[in-house]
Amino acid sequence: MMGSSPDRLDDHILQEKLDHYSLDIGEHSIWCGNLDRDGYGRVWVGGRSMKASRLAWELAYGPIPPGMMVLHRNPCHHPACVRFDHLYLGTSQDNQQDRAALQLCQTHCKHGHLLDEANTKWCSLLGGRLFRRCRICCREGAQGAERRRDDTQA
Ligand SMILES: [Zn+2]
Ligand SMILES: [Zn+2]
Repeated sequence: MMGSSPDRLDDHILQEKLDHYSLDIGEHSIWCGNLDRDGYGRVWVGGRSMKASRLAWELAYGPIPPGMMVLHRNPCHHPACVRFDHLYLGTSQDNQQDRAALQLCQTHCKHGHLLDEANTKWCSLLGGRLFRRCRICCREGAQGAERRRDDTQA
């Protein structure tokens, strides 16, 4: 079904659901329900699955205008964080810039290798933006693919 905005579900119930599934870790409220493959929380609302960060934003500020995305502020950048004041609205372009900015200030790769001059491989995206890649990981990438399972420990 398309068209007119759906009836608002009971915000109070949704807020309780959000509180129930999020855990305060440091300054963040981390979603501990289902996560999608990018690490974003997923929540069922009215029979549909939506991003938990979108729900958190809507409960705090109201409906999200069409075409806008809920993004994480610098320096939060936790996809699973649902703290409303760590969220802001942006376009998908903002989202890409965000990710690129995050890459630029990285000092270590996700496997903990130091991204110094010798170990940094600069790559450019379609828009000409630069981002860092870890040479050690690039080298190991081909062999390491099947080891990915071991990375789930957090
Ligand atoms: Zn956060
Ligand atoms: Zn690395």
